[in-house]
Amino acid sequence: MYNQPFQIPNFIGGDFVGPASGQYLENIEPATGKSYSHVADSDFRDVELAVAAADRAFGDWSRTPTEQRSRIILRIADLIERDLAKFARAESVDTGKPISLAQTLEIPRAISNFRFFATAVLHTENEAHVTDGIAFNYTLRQPRGIVGLISPWNLPLYLLSWKIAPALAVGNTAIAKPSELTPMTAYLLCEICREAGLPPGVLNIVHGTGPNVGAAITSHPKITTISFTGGTVTGRKVAESGAPLFKKISLELGGKNPNIIFADADLGAAIAGSVRSSFANQGQVCLCGSRVFVERPVYDEFVRQFVAATSQLKVGDPLDEKTDQGAIVSRMQLDKVKFYVDLAQKEGGQIALGGSAPPPPNERCREGYFFPPTVITGLPVSCRTNREEIFGPVVTITPFDSEDEVIGYANDVEYGLSSSVWTQNLSRAHRVAEKIHAGTVWINCWLVRDLRVPFGGMKQSGVGREGGEEALRFFTEPKNVCIAK
Ligand code: NDP
Repeated sequence: MYNQPFQIPNFIGGDFVGPASGQYLENIEPATGKSYSHVADSDFRDVELAVAAADRAFGDWSRTPTEQRSRIILRIADLIERDLAKFARAESVDTGKPISLAQTLEIPRAISNFRFFATAVLHTENEAHVTDGIAFNYTLRQPRGIVGLISPWNLPLYLLSWKIAPALAVGNTAIAKPSELTPMTAYLLCEICREAGLPPGVLNIVHGTGPNVGAAITSHPKITTISFTGGTVTGRKVAESGAPLFKKISLELGGKNPNIIFADADLGAAIAGSVRSSFANQGQVCLCGSRVFVERPVYDEFVRQFVAATSQLKVGDPLDEKTDQGAIVSRMQLDKVKFYVDLAQKEGGQIALGGSAPPPPNERCREGYFFPPTVITGLPVSCRTNREEIFGPVVTITPFDSEDEVIGYANDVEYGLSSSVWTQNLSRAHRVAEKIHAGTVWINCWLVRDLRVPFGGMKQSGVGREGGEEALRFFTEPKNVCIAK
């Protein structure tokens, strides 16, 4: 029906190969709750094959002139762009996200990731340090070898390409593992890589579960570097597995991001921005603002207008161009969302909107995993609903009385990924930005993502930064060469 393969194999050494186990996992379409393809259930044996292929490819690829590597990666971007509609549909079917989101934001962003890093490597500089009259130093930045790239299900190609592009552009070879829940666009990318002329073994994709494939990647002695995006609990396992082998590890983890609205904010802009930051991709974006804090003089008005604007979001079949809210990625994630909505009520919260499963949008989606945008008020700041990551279309709204109070609220969680602040007062914007514990602070906006800026989290939201120069540095090893005068 979707013109996509029934069985998704691994991509190793430039070939599509079945898993050593011979087993495949069901790949469920979240909008229908039905299996629509199967994905390789790989294990350490497949990772071993991929490591051998990446190892063989490394010498030539790392010595390939930068401009040539750049040209191949640019071709990958062009070919994804040519097939944008196919990629967007595949992403929508695989994840349950609205096709319009995949079409206008996610796949275009994956294309930009490839273009950005393919050209960034053409403009790098090497540092030099002169040591008085004694010596001259220069810094070589060399590829680290075979890198492991592990990504989650919420923004599959967007996040995987964010890792693959810089890793390959600087001359590494890679073994990537997409989430077993959303493998389709990674498969389509492999076809594109072959067409673009990426040499065999430079990019290998091994599908399967985290405990089987992910753990085999993080513990493999020949994989020197791990870039991981996913939940905090998994991130801890990745760190535990890689640290004794002294791997270089970047961890982009969970969040419980505050979204602060001061009484002097442009309320219309704050409401439109907050609806988006609360519910984009059904709230399944690590950067979603799940805790909204509103200064008391505008609290009632904000809640009224926020609920009214949210109730306009159309929950529907992800393949319908007019749908704003698609399906939740899996039955498990849907159950987690429902658990937290029940918990919120037990903790004293009032449901201002949503809160229970909507009727199916159409016959096709009768057994799909749908949950409406849900707004909860009246909760204490310190309750579990306000501290734990839900990762679904659920926000809480809480009033505050002073700047210091809301900064305390914002920082009183174990996470520190991102935050938004809405105010017309420039001095306050700077003051609050400086005090919030988060890797990103947006002022009067959300999800403006310049590819050059450092991206990552504080506290349990991660270790290290990716993006722009940070990514190029992460995927290279600096070596100082000191020449006596
Ligand atoms: P998980 O942590 O469950 O999974 C992330 C990836 O890790 C998947 O590919 C998963 O495989 C794999 N994995 C699972 N167990 C292991 C293991 N033991 N060793 C190595 N890899 C493993 O996250 P989700 O997929 O559920 O994604 C949601 C989470 O990701 C949220 O917490 C969200 O905040 C976070 N996230 C963070 C972002 C950031 O930039 N900071 C961006 C986007 C999401 P599989 O699923 O196939 O079993």
